[in-house]
Amino acid sequence: MNPNPSLRARVRAAAENRPGVYAMYGPGDELLYVGKSVRVRTRLLSYFRAERGEKAWELIRETSRIEWKYVPNEFEALIREMKLIQNRQPRFNVQHKRKRIYAFVKVTREPAPRVLPVSRVVPDGATYYGPFPRVRALARTIRELAQVLGLRDCPASTPVFFADQLEIFRGGRPPRCIRADLGTCLAPCCGRPSVAEYDAVVRLATRFLEGRAEAPLRELEARMREAARRMDFEYASVLRDRLERLRRFRDELVAFRGRVENLTFLYRVPGFRGDDRLYAIRQGRIRAALPYPRGAAARRRARARVAEVFTTGDPGPEGLRPEEAAEILLVSRWFRLRPRERKRTVPPERWLQA
Ligand code: SF4
Repeated sequence: MNPNPSLRARVRAAAENRPGVYAMYGPGDELLYVGKSVRVRTRLLSYFRAERGEKAWELIRETSRIEWKYVPNEFEALIREMKLIQNRQPRFNVQHKRKRIYAFVKVTREPAPRVLPVSRVVPDGATYYGPFPRVRALARTIRELAQVLGLRDCPASTPVFFADQLEIFRGGRPPRCIRADLGTCLAPCCGRPSVAEYDAVVRLATRFLEGRAEAPLRELEARMREAARRMDFEYASVLRDRLERLRRFRDELVAFRGRVENLTFLYRVPGFRGDDRLYAIRQGRIRAALPYPRGAAARRRARARVAEVFTTGDPGPEGLRPEEAAEILLVSRWFRLRPRERKRTVPPERWLQA
C-alpha cells in the first residue's frame, strides 16, 4: 500500500509526461534519490505502486518532497542525472547501485618516472591515460608492464641516481628492494641505468600506452620462449598469462582511444515540443549545449560558439575529473547502444561550412 498518499496526489496534480530529471528529498532535506525519465509523470507515479519491501516502497516512505526539472530530451536527462549523482551521492543511488569507479594510468613527472594506476587525475604535470572501468585488472596489468620494462614502482620519496652521476657513486650504493636482483627493475635507486637508458624505457611505456609500440609484448614472448627452451614450463605458463593480459590491455587501449577520438561532432537531438538541441561533443565530452539555431542571427551566434569549442586547444587528459571521465564513458555508451543516433551527428568542419 502507498505509504505517502499526499505526495502522490501532488505528483498527479503537477507532473507532466515529458523528459526530465527528478530528485527525492527526505527529512532534513536530505537528497535521497535522483532519477531520470522520458515520461516524468508516469515514472514518478510508478513508485507509488511499489509493494512493501521493495526499494521504491522504502524510498517513497522516506520521501517528504519530490522536485523535478524538465529537459528537452533523454540524452540531456541522462547527462544531468549522472552529474547530480556524481556530485551529490544520494543515499539510495549509492546504496542500490554500485558506485562506478574509474582508473587512469599515470606516467609521473619525476627524475625517474613511474607508471602507476590511479583513481584521480590532478593537474600535476604528469601524463594520464584513461579512463578505464576495470580498476583491479588495470592495477595488475600496470604492475606487470612496469616489471616487463624495468620501471620502478617504489614510493616517490625513494632517492634516485643515475649511472652518469658518477661523482655521487664513488662508494656505490646497494639497491633498495629485491626487484633490482630479480632483474625486474633497472634500479635507479642504486645508479644502475643512465638517464638516457631509463628515459628510453619510459618512452617505450608511453608509446605502448598510446598503442604505438609492441616492444613489451615482444619482450614477454622472448622470455616465454626462453623459459620453454629451458623446460621451465611453469614459469613459461605464468609468462603466457601475463602476455595475454598485456595484449588484452593493449587492445582495450587502442579500441577505447579510437572510440573517444571518434566522439567529436555536432549532435542534433529532437526535443520535446520542437525544443531541438545542438550538442558540441569533443573527444567524448559535451563542450557546449545550445538550442538548435533557427534563423540567420541565431545561426551566426551558434557558429561562433561551435568554432570556439573546436578551435581552442584541447586541454587533453590533464584536469580530467572523475565526473568528466564518467561523462566520456556515458557518451561513449550512449552511441554504442544507439548506433542510429550517429546519423544525427555532423563533423564540426562540415557543420561550420554549411
Ligand atoms: S629496485 Fe630500486 S628503483 Fe627499483 S623499485 Fe626497487 S627501490 Fe625502486
